Amino acid sequence: MGPRGAPGLQATWRMVLALCAVWLGALPALAGPLVVDVLDIGQGDAILVRADGRAVLVDAGPGRAIVDQLERLGVRRLDLAVASHAHADHIGGMQAVIEAVDTRFYMDNGQPHTTATYRDLMRAVDDRRVTYVAADPGREITLGDDVVLTVLAPPARPFTDTRSDHNSNSVVLWLRHGTVDILLTGDAEEPTEAWLVAQGVPDVEVLKVPHHGSDHSSTTPFLTAIKPEIAVISCGRGNKYDHPGPDALARLEAAGATVYRTDTMGQVRLVSDGAAVQVTTGSIDRFGASLPAAASPPATAPVPTPSSTPSPTGGEEAP
Ligand SMILES: [Zn+2]
Repeated sequence: MGPRGAPGLQATWRMVLALCAVWLGALPALAGPLVVDVLDIGQGDAILVRADGRAVLVDAGPGRAIVDQLERLGVRRLDLAVASHAHADHIGGMQAVIEAVDTRFYMDNGQPHTTATYRDLMRAVDDRRVTYVAADPGREITLGDDVVLTVLAPPARPFTDTRSDHNSNSVVLWLRHGTVDILLTGDAEEPTEAWLVAQGVPDVEVLKVPHHGSDHSSTTPFLTAIKPEIAVISCGRGNKYDHPGPDALARLEAAGATVYRTDTMGQVRLVSDGAAVQVTTGSIDRFGASLPAAASPPATAPVPTPSSTPSPTGGEEAP
């Protein structure tokens, strides 16, 4: 079952315009930092991105624990929730998030899964009237003052016949804040990495390591191209997949990256001032319920109704 009633490009333009409107309203305030929390969610991914009072959740971990983590981190609403792909260690908690937290937009790669987890999530997106946005490559979303999220992958023509098509078609996001570049890669594997290198990828300060540090990812050509200084691995303590793999760890080390891991270090917080990144690790309690002091207050601008914002291109078929 695919996402129903997906307005596609039209929704994206509404989103860009809506977020731009919020951004303009926030201009008089000093810009805050970009804060990226790679949450300690067990074997899975859940990454919270906050800038200028807006919040984006990229993946929701394997279960409901994410809801408590968001509450303890003071997240009352999400401007955007992204599912990198439909495996349960990424969307297992997403239905609970959609039902518990006011969420404006939901983005995925448009690749359905046969599981009840996927079906129930899509029903929740429909029921809560969260606006669906397709993760088309090149799509840009302005999150705040000098903070832009760009969809790099999957390709418009999805990967087929790979080791794992779900993994290979993960949504890959490039998060830019000033001169700081962060790459969020879902469970992308070698085919995705090779395609990204062929397309041209930026140097990055931070890599959310693909696929929990699996040996099927973090290939040398990819790491050579992106030159990560900081590599964050999200995986569970004693996980049955033996993530991260020794080969991937060796390649990350050879690439000169400093590796942080949620299984041994707990939550990893990255704070960017637009020029440099500071890293803090530890239990979620240590981080409290607030952003660093420079953060702006939450945005309160209303979501525009569909009829109030013109679409430059008209509709687009659901994936
Ligand atoms: Zn995964």
